[in-house]
Amino acid sequence: MEKENKPQVQCLNCQRSDQEVPVVALQFKGQQTWICNQCLPTLIHHAERLADKFAQLED
Ligand SMILES: [Zn+2]
Repeated sequence: MEKENKPQVQCLNCQRSDQEVPVVALQFKGQQTWICNQCLPTLIHHAERLADKFAQLED
């Protein structure tokens, strides 16, 4: 029952879940999201590539 209330933990870029890959929690404009270890370098070095992903969080 508790599981139903948990937000789905998955990478905002590649959609893989924490059952498949390690993910890091992010907080952006009050929204909680996650990014996996493989996508994290993209966020750091090429944040513009993920801009549309973060824009979707604002809905
Ligand atoms: Zn990812």
